[in-house]
Amino acid sequence: MNTKPRIVVLGAGYAGMMTTKKLMKALSPEEAEIVLVNKHNYHYQTTWLHEVAAGTINQNQARIMIRDVINPNRVRIIYDTVVKVDKEESQVILEHSELSYDYLVISLGYETNTFGIKGMDEHAFFIEDFDSCRLIREHIEYQFAKFNNDLEADESSLSILVGGGGFTGIEFVGELVEKVPELCKKYDIDRGKAKIINVEAAPSILPTFDNDLVSYGRKSLQERGAHILEGVRINECTNEGFIVGDDNELIKAGTIVWTGGVTGNSILGKSGFELTKGKVTVNGDLRAPGHDNIFVLGDCAWVMNKYENRPYPPTAQAAMQHATTCVTNIQALIHNLPLEEFTFSDKGTVASLGVTDGMGTILIGKKLYGKSAAAMKKVVDDRYLFLLGGPLLLMKKGKIRPF
Ligand SMILES: Cc1cc2nc3c(=O)[nH]c(=O)nc-3n(C[C@H](O)[C@H](O)[C@H](O)COP(=O)(O)OP(=O)(O)OC[C@H]3O[C@@H](n4cnc5c(N)ncnc54)[C@H](O)[C@@H]3O)c2cc1C
Repeated sequence: MNTKPRIVVLGAGYAGMMTTKKLMKALSPEEAEIVLVNKHNYHYQTTWLHEVAAGTINQNQARIMIRDVINPNRVRIIYDTVVKVDKEESQVILEHSELSYDYLVISLGYETNTFGIKGMDEHAFFIEDFDSCRLIREHIEYQFAKFNNDLEADESSLSILVGGGGFTGIEFVGELVEKVPELCKKYDIDRGKAKIINVEAAPSILPTFDNDLVSYGRKSLQERGAHILEGVRINECTNEGFIVGDDNELIKAGTIVWTGGVTGNSILGKSGFELTKGKVTVNGDLRAPGHDNIFVLGDCAWVMNKYENRPYPPTAQAAMQHATTCVTNIQALIHNLPLEEFTFSDKGTVASLGVTDGMGTILIGKKLYGKSAAAMKKVVDDRYLFLLGGPLLLMKKGKIRPF
């Protein structure tokens, strides 16, 4: 009879992959069975999705086959979609089967939040997962390929509208200012005809950065042809574009992308967890309140910063740190030891503004701009690859190429 506990990890993103890797190291096969469930047979780097959507990297560079980094002889890997968690029966309901658990780790990431803006769900693309980003990339290229073949084509079909001037929206615009000139050249289109327009309702883009960094980012994008509209409210999205402001002006575009909000995976609500803004407000040890064997990590977790009385921002950096605490605590539960509290160690945040530009802070608030910020961003990306799959993965998928 199988008496060892079964640990089930849902979602192979930053939190899920790092949890699984660390569990493999922390526990022997005799101590626990580990099961990883994911929708696809690949893991994708969510932090690279803006590049996939703009077409500035080879899309396959941003995804890794799960079996290339997780040993299937040690971890049972199930490719299936999670439908619901039945907490009372300690079961996970998948699209094609069911699975019991002794310990559960929920790391299913985010979903797009359109805040009920009329027409946004119907007419906008989302930077949500690998598939949605491949679609954006193909759609943009199609608009450019079509233009000279369609005598009645309106110039606005070449325009790209990006709703939301937060981290994702601005990083995406940073890629577009480099990609659009390439597309114009490729399809013999005058650069002046293709507009890139970012629309943000708040007074300023990039609310998590200070004024200096925001000014740098705004100027860099504007100098390369992006239109940044701040303090402009989107009232509605139609198949033609955004209707904005008090005068209900229509901004037309052939490509409309919404990046203005995310929330936790809807599986959380369907499974009856108590939510704050779509996420589970976890205890200090990252467990769901009232459920001693369920951990919630990454973008599914609302983790309070008790020193500043506000939640930590949802980042890959935090998701990976959640994984470390979660594994320590699962080990502690198995061995009847006290659990530890999660503490976030902020290593800084750098936003890319295209391949060779960026800005942000590292460590204790040191600011970086331009090429050094872009290089730092690549170092961070490559560090993750190294942690996940060692030097081989780094050589295969890394952004910094030594030769
Ligand atoms: C464009 C962009 C740029 C970003 N840049 C940065 C950055 O520079 N630095 C930073 O720290 N953070 C960044 N972030 C935020 C960061 O990507 C997220 O905070 C991080 O991915 C959260 O990790 P996670 O493990 O919770 O979810 P994810 O990494 O999103 O993983 C979720 C996984 O769950 C799977 N899944 C979802 N639903 C189901 C289901 N029903 N059944 C089975 N599997 C499912 C998905 O396929 C996916 O593999 C960025 C985000 C975006 C979109």
